[in-house]
Amino acid sequence: IRNLCLVFGDQLDQQSNLFTDFDPQQDALWMAEVSDESSNPASSKQRTVLFLSAMRHFAQWIERQDWPLVYYSIIEQFGSFSDVLAQTLQDYSVQQIRCVLPGDYRVLQALQNFCKQQQIELIVLPDSHFIAEQGEFQNWANNRQQLRMEYWYRQLRKRCNILMNNGKPEGGKWNYDADNRKAFGKAGPPQIPIPCDFLEDDIVQQVRKDVEQYLPNLPGNLPRFFWPVDRQQALQALQDFIDRRLPTFGDYQDAMWKGEPWLFHSRISMAINLKLLHPMEVIQAAENAYRQGRAPLNAVEGFIRQILGWREYIRGIYWLQREQWSQFNALDNQRDLPQMYWDGKTQMNCMQQSLKQVLDYGYGHHIQRLMITGLYALLAEVEPQQIEAWYLAMYVDAVAWVEVPNTLGMSQFADGGILASKPYIASGNYIKKMSNYCDGCAFNPKNASGDKACPMTTLYWHFIYRHQDWLQEHPRLAMQVKHWHNKSAEEQAAILQKAAQIFQNQV
Ligand code: FAD
Ligand code: SF4
Repeated sequence: IRNLCLVFGDQLDQQSNLFTDFDPQQDALWMAEVSDESSNPASSKQRTVLFLSAMRHFAQWIERQDWPLVYYSIIEQFGSFSDVLAQTLQDYSVQQIRCVLPGDYRVLQALQNFCKQQQIELIVLPDSHFIAEQGEFQNWANNRQQLRMEYWYRQLRKRCNILMNNGKPEGGKWNYDADNRKAFGKAGPPQIPIPCDFLEDDIVQQVRKDVEQYLPNLPGNLPRFFWPVDRQQALQALQDFIDRRLPTFGDYQDAMWKGEPWLFHSRISMAINLKLLHPMEVIQAAENAYRQGRAPLNAVEGFIRQILGWREYIRGIYWLQREQWSQFNALDNQRDLPQMYWDGKTQMNCMQQSLKQVLDYGYGHHIQRLMITGLYALLAEVEPQQIEAWYLAMYVDAVAWVEVPNTLGMSQFADGGILASKPYIASGNYIKKMSNYCDGCAFNPKNASGDKACPMTTLYWHFIYRHQDWLQEHPRLAMQVKHWHNKSAEEQAAILQKAAQIFQNQV
């Protein structure tokens, strides 16, 4: 084999750079299902079935091209990529290994070490499945004191001519976020279209069996599996969103509702992350809907900002800080992740609702991740790397480059503010405003102490108290420190006592 071309589980890209000068007469493709990727660190049942099913579908596509493929299934029980690659090098004479930049720095390092040991050349090709070009983020970030997503987003919008009108942003404003924070109010959500699901085909059913047999004890549940596993299904899922949910996406982007896991969200992050959909085709589909009058500007701009802005920005930051993430703990949080994250058992209704859908389907929308499950871990002083491992394990769309900065940076402020200008903190009052989770909950979001004290509210004030020294210097949070000092000494003591109880007993 002249070039052994590695295709990782999150690189199922029919336009991959690997194929540019691929010669089926001399080269071969290589894919491997290895157990470390599912068990060390853990990966949930939903996430594992998604990855393995999509890989096997992609292998079928490769075979249809008549390209040679070396494929190792989980049945062969290889532990790591290095173990299985060593086997390949024994079985075949390989001149060079090629891959597209992996989505996990840890995998890149392992591969580089392996090739060094084996004295075989490794060529790492750039990943063309993003909108930023190679080095573009680094150049933008150089000489900037603060890296704010908004300015990066504007640069990409101009360069790619997305939602632009004669060099000006469409509608006159770059950002319609202020229109995108509506709650549902007492009446509840408008009619939510049921999203298109995909039936388990033969491949998915076989993967389900293999996972039960060879990867027992993975976290989470698998009551049903319905995620897109190939390009055709991914395109269908995209179309379904554009036609039926995009028009309402903007208004209710931040809202939450009991028993409604999807609301008006796109549910396509996993398909983009596995490279079944290109981010640019997703953006263009949304822009076309706006240009054809099928969706309003606030929805389309809001949606495009998530992908062109946030997604590309997060990736840039991941690679910029690649060496540091595993050590970041700016707030010095040292507690263990509460058991409820693994079994969903808690009296906190907001947590119970958000955890249950992650355990069952591997999905939570952004505000549930940031302002419920992430917020609680932050306020409960969970060691950031423990909550990070949980996010990587549980969500079907979790890949290191996107999950790590979102969790450690945006949600846990473990990077001390490289990614976000302030910690995302709130009390139970925010959750009450944005959802109906508090109705019928055992706690009262207004109470910070006493029997009915809402743990979010108690721990919010505890956070302000604990970090008051630096928060009082922060332009957007200093006021909260003042509010803390305006409380009576008895009230403060009662809140701190309640916080101590929560840390001890959990809820
Ligand atoms: P929608 O709400 O419909 O948004 C549209 C698309 O925008 C998403 O599909 C996604 O591709 C992109 N997007 C939106 N926000 C972000 C963001 N902050 N970063 C990157 N892309 C974004 N996203 C992942 O893809 N994988 C993860 O592992 C992941 N972990 C997260 C962990 C935490 C703690 C937080 C706060 C966010 C995380 N996100 C992650 C970002 C975001 O929550 C998900 O992309 C989104 O909820 C996916 O659901 P959706 O496809 O219905 O998104
Ligand atoms: Fe969550 Fe507190 Fe509201 Fe209960 S009262 S749902 S714990 S925010």
